[in-house]
Amino acid sequence: MKDCVFCKIASGEIPAKKLYEDGEMLAFYDMEPKAPLHFLVIPKKHIPNVMEAEESESGLLGALLWRAQKLAVEAGFEKNGARFVINCKEDGGQTVPHLHIHVLSGRPLGWPPG
Ligand code: AMP
Ligand code: ZN
Repeated sequence: MKDCVFCKIASGEIPAKKLYEDGEMLAFYDMEPKAPLHFLVIPKKHIPNVMEAEESESGLLGALLWRAQKLAVEAGFEKNGARFVINCKEDGGQTVPHLHIHVLSGRPLGWPPG
């Protein structure tokens, strides 16, 4: 989608430090990391947020989460754990309107969110 920063990363128009890429998704490090490990997993297809995903995209949603956990484990963060976050729309704290899973690890993370 025009003017979407994550669509531009998916197409290669904007650079990102990639961890993983296949035909339907991309994982890259967050440019403002909130933990020692902080990366994002996005579909290449523009889905605005998880609440607007279609039933036909349920397989893709599962694949994104599966890849997020695989990458966290491969990076060596299985023992102490990690947080997998999907912010959605205004009250959810979403700032980039292209679906993404945050993966954060490497330090204890507080709860509940502020
Ligand atoms: P959210 O607030 O859940 O929408 O998260 C958006 C995240 O995208 C933030 O953590 C930003 O730091 C990150 N971000 C925005 N633009 C870029 C970019 N060009 N490359 C890497 N991360 C980005
Ligand atoms: Zn997009």
